[in-house]
Amino acid sequence: MQIGVPKETAPRERRVALAPDSVARLVKAGVAVVVEHGAGGSASFPDSAYAAAGATIASSAAETLAASDVVTKVQRPSPDEARAFKPGAVLISLLQPAASTDVLPVFAERSITALSLERVPRITRAQSMDVLSSQSTVAGYKAVLIGASLMPKFLPMLTTAAGNIAPAKAFVLGAGVAGLQAIATARRLGAVVSAFDVRPAVREQVQSLGASFVAADAISADAEDKGGYAREQSEAQQQRTAALLHDHLKQMDLVITTAQIPGRPAPKLITDAMVADMRPGSVIVDLAAESGGNVEGCVAGEIVEKHGVKIVGAKNMAGTMAADASALFSRNLFNFLSAFWDKDKGAPVLDEEIGDAVRLTKDGKVVNQRLLA
Ligand code: NAD
Repeated sequence: MQIGVPKETAPRERRVALAPDSVARLVKAGVAVVVEHGAGGSASFPDSAYAAAGATIASSAAETLAASDVVTKVQRPSPDEARAFKPGAVLISLLQPAASTDVLPVFAERSITALSLERVPRITRAQSMDVLSSQSTVAGYKAVLIGASLMPKFLPMLTTAAGNIAPAKAFVLGAGVAGLQAIATARRLGAVVSAFDVRPAVREQVQSLGASFVAADAISADAEDKGGYAREQSEAQQQRTAALLHDHLKQMDLVITTAQIPGRPAPKLITDAMVADMRPGSVIVDLAAESGGNVEGCVAGEIVEKHGVKIVGAKNMAGTMAADASALFSRNLFNFLSAFWDKDKGAPVLDEEIGDAVRLTKDGKVVNQRLLA
């Protein structure tokens, strides 16, 4: 029984599912690992590091997949790629269930058990397997760096012989995992940071990072579901939030937006009229761009300029820091594998709570239809 690590095939994906240190731990535990030649190359992990970790290097994707009983990936395979899997294999990956309708029938046809990492429930014992959190941490950090590099200003206060420079004002809208990391990063770079989130628990977290919490009147007690995620706001609530944020945005130099509602398009929180009232030269980095964006006019994968404000439609931020993003992803995956690995079966055997959440196909059938809606 072998765990396989094919090279990612999605455009511009630089990450790899397992890094050499996790491979070494698997091999030490008696699990054989096969890695496609060059799989870790764009994440700065050469074949030699995998070979030193005890993996076998396969020369092609076809050879890797033909030898893999468990396939580990960052992004979901294409239908053609899935057709090269061993019948009955287990796939562990981010699968974006709602966007996987083309590949799910292939998994079912070939009796592939597809496990969707983004469905790992946010419960304490699964925290170490939570790839959404680890990859959001990278995204929050990188968003600040991208914003800072596009700004015509310093982030920190400077005292120079030529006079003083005031610190930039940064605002983080949506202070979940990515948002909190963005706050911490902007603070470290010396900006004056404020933030807003609809979930009441966030206020204290924001303040503990040294940022101020704005528009506290727009927090709603029922904003959080039992999974820890935000619920969609009503039209009236959204308007109220918008009105409270409009004035605040006028003073900002850098805005990072991260607001998401699982399974729904991202809420539009910054309108064109609000952008028009912002300071010329200011920058908005929209981390929700791939799910529709929090900012009106944002285009995923592009930087557009509106009213003198740059709006960055951030796309796969984690992939832009492939070495550390892969290292974290890989540790999440290792923790998942080691929690559930069954030595006799040579495959993960999941408990009911996590299994029911993450399994998309089993025994030749698409299960968990609820998640696909
Ligand atoms: P996310 O990416 O779904 O959303 C980002 C943030 O946007 C959230 O904080 C959300 O409240 C906020 N948001 C949504 N709509 C908004 C609006 N209209 N206005 C302002 N903000 C809005 O969420 P996430 O960062 O992946 O996680 C959210 C929370 O889940 C975490 O902060 C944490 O409390 C919890 N969590 C728990 C675990 C665990 O226990 N294992 C792990 C990770 C996260």
